[in-house]
Amino acid sequence: MSRAAQLLRAAGVRATRKRVEVLAAVLGADRAVAPAELWERSGLAAFMDRATLYRTLDLLAERGLVLRTLGPDRAFRYCAGGGAPAGMAHGHFYCLCCHAMRCLPQAVLAVEQALPPGAAAGHVEIRVDGLCAACRAAGARPEA
Ligand SMILES: [Zn+2]
Ligand SMILES: [Zn+2]
Repeated sequence: MSRAAQLLRAAGVRATRKRVEVLAAVLGADRAVAPAELWERSGLAAFMDRATLYRTLDLLAERGLVLRTLGPDRAFRYCAGGGAPAGMAHGHFYCLCCHAMRCLPQAVLAVEQALPPGAAAGHVEIRVDGLCAACRAAGARPEA
């Protein structure tokens, strides 16, 4: 059984082919991806329509299998954590030039250490906007 199928089963979600393929595509991405990127890169178009892709991503997010993060461009991105346990809160770095969103698996740890004594974090969302190394090297400026 694939890793995606195992994760679905462990979360009590029926491992249909579409769910397995969508989760595998998110797991295989090296950053947080927008549905349109997944659609173009992963071959999902061969056996589902866009509405099904969006619905499936939302289901995976609700079940904690992927994390859904809003970018400053108001588009959701989905990721598997970049090393953090699947679906677990973690930070993101968003490049204002190339719009790539990278996972920062360690960023939430620092926040949890900064909480008042005895407090427990619920929902945590950390997004740092800036310029990635490649865009800085190319002399890019952030888009307004
Ligand atoms: Zn960039
Ligand atoms: Zn992420």
